Amino acid sequence: MKGLSQMAESRQKLDIVAPFFNEAQSASAFAALLDRLEEAVSSRFGMAVHKILVDDGSRDDGAGRFSQALSGSWEIVRLSRNFGKEVAVLAGLDQSRGDMVLIMDSDLQHSMDISLQMIAELVEHPDIDVVYAQNDRREASWRRSQLAKLFYSLINSSQRFDIPENAGDFRVMRGTVARALTSLRDKRRFNKGLFAWAGFRQKAIPYSPENRASGTSKWSRLNLLAFSLEGFTSFSVIPLRIISLSGMLAALAGVLYGAKVFFEVMFYGIAVPGYPSLMVAVVLLGGLNLTLLGLIGEYVWVTLSESKDRPVYIVRDVVRSDFSDGAPGASRG
Ligand code: UDP
Ligand code: MG
Repeated sequence: MKGLSQMAESRQKLDIVAPFFNEAQSASAFAALLDRLEEAVSSRFGMAVHKILVDDGSRDDGAGRFSQALSGSWEIVRLSRNFGKEVAVLAGLDQSRGDMVLIMDSDLQHSMDISLQMIAELVEHPDIDVVYAQNDRREASWRRSQLAKLFYSLINSSQRFDIPENAGDFRVMRGTVARALTSLRDKRRFNKGLFAWAGFRQKAIPYSPENRASGTSKWSRLNLLAFSLEGFTSFSVIPLRIISLSGMLAALAGVLYGAKVFFEVMFYGIAVPGYPSLMVAVVLLGGLNLTLLGLIGEYVWVTLSESKDRPVYIVRDVVRSDFSDGAPGASRG
């Protein structure tokens, strides 16, 4: 028995971090995918696999289903409520101790092939630290991809690091990178930005996500909009700068217009019709003012939530497999 555990210790370890929220329907299929992945990883790369699933406050019995379907070494971290995927990923990374960490969705949209391809890249190239899957967005509409382009070019202007387009959480990284990421304790998390901020040598692999096996995406249009705003308020001052610039331009226009009126009255005796121009000025400036206030509010809100210094998430309990390392016997706590 001792010999066996020593053997296990000398093998490189891969942690698979997968958050789930109301995915009970795909639990057994995902567990099966993890089994196949584990087998391939251990035969191709000789790595031991530990699975870290994060129950992001599911309202169905996903955790129960998973604990029945999973095999090998695993743990399920159950959060006290739904914190959102970005936070759930952090909760998983916090548990990870492996030499490499793979982050993937549990809705079967992230394929085993791409996962293996990414792991192979890391194994074969010691000079690369992170390999991420880049969604080639074949399914997205033209309008949506143009919007995404605009978003990334805005957020990446005047920045020392670039947030790559269409790069999500689906990625493999070395343990050092995972640990670096867990040291970033932003409460309002925009993972794409955090991954980029942390740096390291990153490489992209193109992929197109599978269709969802069951259920629906948790991202509505409104969610996406809020998320983009999150990206800006955590990683960019550009919106503030644009607004102050347009404020200055408006003020300049006001001065010029004032000068014109002044000269017309003084030298040509033209009585300037006041009402329309007043309305234009009032509405324009009022609108600008409100927009700016709202925007500043967003930044203040981020500052407020960071300064409250609450923990990023709260763990309800952790359910472990019988022989997951460090915790012999099914355990909770
Ligand atoms: N997810 C989560 N918490 C949430 C929403 C989603 O943990 O609040 C999980 C979800 O179960 C899935 C992954 O995050 O495994 C991606 O979610 P989804 O499929 O809704 O996003 P999409 O694939 O459309 O980007
Ligand atoms: Mg999905």
